[in-house]
Amino acid sequence: MAKMRAYDLARELGLESKDLLEQAHSLGIEVKTASSSIEESDAELIRLAIAEANAPAVVPEPEPASEPEPAPDREIKLVSVPANPSVADVANALGESAVTIVGALVRRGVLAGAGGPMPLDYLDAIAEQFGAIIETEAPPPPAPKTSRRPSFDDAPADLVERPPVVTIMGHVDHGKTTLLDTIRKSNVVAGEQGGITQHIGAYQVQVGDRLITFIDTPGHEAFTALRARGAEVTDIVVLVVAANDGVMPQTIEAISHARAAGVKLVVAVNKVDLPGADPMRVRTMLTEHEVVTEDLGGDIPVVEVSALTGLGVDSLLELIDLIAQLEDFRANPKPAASGVVIEAQLDPGMGPTATVIVKRGTLRTGDAFVAGQTSGRVRAMMDWAGNRETLADPSTPVLIMGWDEIPIAGDDFEVLSNEREARARAQERADVARDASFSTPATARERLANLLEQLRADEAELRVILKADAHGSLEALRESLGKIKREGGRIEIMHGAIGGINENDVKLAEVTEAVVIGFNVRPDGKTRRLAESKGIEIRTYGIIYELLEEIEAMLVGRLAPDQVEVVLGTAEVRAIFKVPRLGNIAGCYVTEGEIVRNAKARLLRGGVVVFDGVIGSLRRFKDDVRNVASGFECGIGFAGFNDIKEGDTIEAYQVNEVARV
Ligand code: GDP
Ligand code: MG
Repeated sequence: MAKMRAYDLARELGLESKDLLEQAHSLGIEVKTASSSIEESDAELIRLAIAEANAPAVVPEPEPASEPEPAPDREIKLVSVPANPSVADVANALGESAVTIVGALVRRGVLAGAGGPMPLDYLDAIAEQFGAIIETEAPPPPAPKTSRRPSFDDAPADLVERPPVVTIMGHVDHGKTTLLDTIRKSNVVAGEQGGITQHIGAYQVQVGDRLITFIDTPGHEAFTALRARGAEVTDIVVLVVAANDGVMPQTIEAISHARAAGVKLVVAVNKVDLPGADPMRVRTMLTEHEVVTEDLGGDIPVVEVSALTGLGVDSLLELIDLIAQLEDFRANPKPAASGVVIEAQLDPGMGPTATVIVKRGTLRTGDAFVAGQTSGRVRAMMDWAGNRETLADPSTPVLIMGWDEIPIAGDDFEVLSNEREARARAQERADVARDASFSTPATARERLANLLEQLRADEAELRVILKADAHGSLEALRESLGKIKREGGRIEIMHGAIGGINENDVKLAEVTEAVVIGFNVRPDGKTRRLAESKGIEIRTYGIIYELLEEIEAMLVGRLAPDQVEVVLGTAEVRAIFKVPRLGNIAGCYVTEGEIVRNAKARLLRGGVVVFDGVIGSLRRFKDDVRNVASGFECGIGFAGFNDIKEGDTIEAYQVNEVARV
């Protein structure tokens, strides 16, 4: 094939050589230097691209007649590409070279590089041109956190059907507790003592001749706490969304948690009895978070219910049962039992008790066991209805008496051959834990450095939890982050939402090994401390490009030399005073650390940064002071800023330079 030199082509097109090289690069054509040679076909592509770029903007022709039509008898293939594919991904799927696809795009008036994102508006047209129907795959579920759960190779013949374990999640006040109560009352498994139910943290209901196990500490608090400790006990998450309220922050969090855990999701649109209920709006809102219900052509089952009147609750149970049959949850009931502690307490009469959900094997009275650093022997077992039991098979929750100490929710439970062995195992674990506590826990920075080290090693995936002050900035960030790419590297947004950084964000970051990124939002004191104790990195920014720059640096496994912020103190605004000449002064109570005059400070409203400046005036009673410690009241004023409201938080901070990691 004919070739020409790059600089000849540059001259022909009236370009600087370096511009030509850049143009070639953006088209995915490798041209090293001006004296490198270029294939004629590539040269043609570059000519086209330049011509297009110089042409007056025209609406691209959707169907250029000159395109090679697929031969009529050619079979149409069905191919798939990952979500947000690159041009190269599309080329790959179509079995064409990237340059061919770039060329086809250029002919449609779109400049795209082979490694760059595929313009999605043209995806179908390009696929059609090459005789294919293309579908985008749902983004892959994040790899589950390496589970501490041992894997068993039970013989298929030993596996028997077991009930699904269901957790109910959703926004506060959307009706989780009510739904759990209604389910419990509607389909009770009759208890011998006339159904005196005992709160043991889980219960079972009957659908036909099968059972469903519900964990009845609702909400993602319990769910994440269990998951954070490596315990994966839930099979199905029922997402409760109130039809009068729609998708709310914790709804989105619940979706992210369920997705991160890779469990089945079912939507229960609740409160449909209310006059203001708009169940369709709930479905539409959910699509914005990639939860597309079956009636909208997606794969997430949905039912409308009223937890209050009981309407639709039977359908929900039938649906869960159906999913369980399709998913075919099974376990081997033969071996010694193992499971997970889901709740534990000290009972005045019975001593330490804990509820365990058996995951494999059968638990019997008299069995010796270890859970976390605690051991014991099953003295007695009780089901949720208060019935004494002598055995519990997979997916059955039972309250166990006979613990030496109170275990912790999320502990792995395991039956051993005798009490002596169980005790020794518990002791061993306690020793290991004590040794570990002597070595200092990893700081957020060390942990991040570790994550970055891994990024450098294999195919890089930087997971982020993104919080922002407004819908517009969140969307802008999503889009810009989607564009940051490097060879084999990508950014996975595990969860994105509007609002201050909260403890759930930190927990999700822990289980998904993500970094929490805030744009114009901040964590509160409790969240900050949780993050510190868990070694979770929280980075906050007020300028988009700084955020993007740092994330890009992280993706290539490098942390920009940076400045680390130290919060000096926080104060709560309890009253506003108008002072002549000074403007509005906030009457504050210092809740943490100290507030320092002339320090940098932010005014936060619901975790969102409303103002970032400097503390102009700081007074105690009538006196100007240099600093005010926690537990004291003071007056704080910002020079030239008056929009302070009761209930706001003032956060004084300092910026320290930190060496490169
Ligand atoms: P949770 O915070 O998600 O556990 O919500 P709750 O179950 O405590 O319910 C919050 C409020 O909503 C309570 O006052 C319930 O009575 C009410 N509620 C729950 N479900 C329904 C429903 O289906 N219809 C109506 N009208 N109210 C409901
Ligand atoms: Mg509740």
